[in-house]
Amino acid sequence: MENKKRYERPVVLKQFSGFMNKFGSRPTTATRTEVDGIPVNELVEKYGSPLFVISERKIRENQRRANRIFKTRYPKVQFAWSYKTNYLNAVCSIFHQEGSWAEVVSGFEYDKARSLGVKGEHIIFNGPDKDKPALRRAISEGSKIHIDHFDELYDIIEIAAELDKKAIVAIRVNMDTGIYPKWDRFGFNYENGEAKQALRRIMTSPGLKLTGLHTHIGTYMMSVDAYKLAADKMVELAGWLKKEYDHILDYIDLGGGFPSNNTLNGQYLPAEQILPTLEQFADAITTSLLELPYPKDELPVLFLETGRALIDDAAHLISTVLAMKRLSDGRRAMIIDAGVNLLFTKFWYKHQITPAQDGGMMTEETAIYGPLCMNIDVMAESITLPVMKKGDKVVIDYVGAYDMTQWMQFIQMRPNVVMIMEDKSIELVREAESLEYLATNEKLPEKLRNFKI
Ligand SMILES: *Cc1c(COP(=O)(O)O)cnc(C)c1O
Repeated sequence: MENKKRYERPVVLKQFSGFMNKFGSRPTTATRTEVDGIPVNELVEKYGSPLFVISERKIRENQRRANRIFKTRYPKVQFAWSYKTNYLNAVCSIFHQEGSWAEVVSGFEYDKARSLGVKGEHIIFNGPDKDKPALRRAISEGSKIHIDHFDELYDIIEIAAELDKKAIVAIRVNMDTGIYPKWDRFGFNYENGEAKQALRRIMTSPGLKLTGLHTHIGTYMMSVDAYKLAADKMVELAGWLKKEYDHILDYIDLGGGFPSNNTLNGQYLPAEQILPTLEQFADAITTSLLELPYPKDELPVLFLETGRALIDDAAHLISTVLAMKRLSDGRRAMIIDAGVNLLFTKFWYKHQITPAQDGGMMTEETAIYGPLCMNIDVMAESITLPVMKKGDKVVIDYVGAYDMTQWMQFIQMRPNVVMIMEDKSIELVREAESLEYLATNEKLPEKLRNFKI
């Protein structure tokens, strides 16, 4: 039965001419029967569907390539893994094994990094919400605190005095990099002098030790010039600190924001055809930093908090067709068992969705819906697919960044996450949730326990 040719039901379709573009027509009957060398069917049989699949090999490859690109252009480079991009323990641990520090943006993420064995001194603590207990822990463990606003600065001065310990700090700087809308809600502004005002306050506070400058200019940045401008402004600030206070910084942190090859909604060409390469971003940043008026052997370390670009293509979501149907206007529609509750980034990206089995040559425009009983649950407005039927599988690519942290229990619980290890063994790295798990934190008042219907 397996090898029997699939029956292609005849369909009458209105033909449009002239829709082929200057690049010809894209192959739309591609199939993808394996993920990182393991058959899709085998993965689903063992671990169910939907299923997130992460490649250990790909993560290591991505991080090593990024290290190589930056370290061949600048002598001192340190990556810090952006926890919020994907904080599964297995994922973070690979990055730490590859030498990356932890970049966290909340007390909870801070604790998560510590529980994985990352020392305080290897944690960069960012974000607008650092409560006093978290600051107290970060100061006493010597982590690098990137101050977001004056109220936080005052808290740190107070806690450092209380603990009689020097707080290791940097400030986050926001600036005009020619990208609009401007990201000016995080950190201290460069153009209006607020950044220098904050630096002055820090330089005159005996309980604080200024070790760096930080900026994170945006995410999925498509402009190399924006990074050049940002690095230039950081160099200017560092030069000012040297002139004004004879102060030398340990590091300059250019944040994250490099794009992955996932294609944005509304973007006509596939991402890899229009995005700058990592080499171009690295050239822009390092060329600028090398102009710093520092003695050559005292150049600051370049910190990078790259998230999306290192993990997006290392994970895939396998999903199963629940049903095929026709919409009232005759369009073909397909319901699959993975919805926007698992793929938060659906609202920005046109993810690549590929059938996991051969469906023949006949293709048709298809709308793909998730399993949620909600109108917003659209996985693809219109995508060209071959003949599909209930039980077939699809593989959704570029799901490594921000999906496994922003996913939610809404109508459906979160499924298994497996990792394909370098030796092709498969590890379950997060177990599917159960009703019991979901109810763990719920409390049912005594008087509501009984009812008669
Ligand atoms: C989210 C975030 C990052 C990672 O950004 P990507 O766009 O995923 O590279 C880095 N630094 C800070 C401060 C962040 O908030």
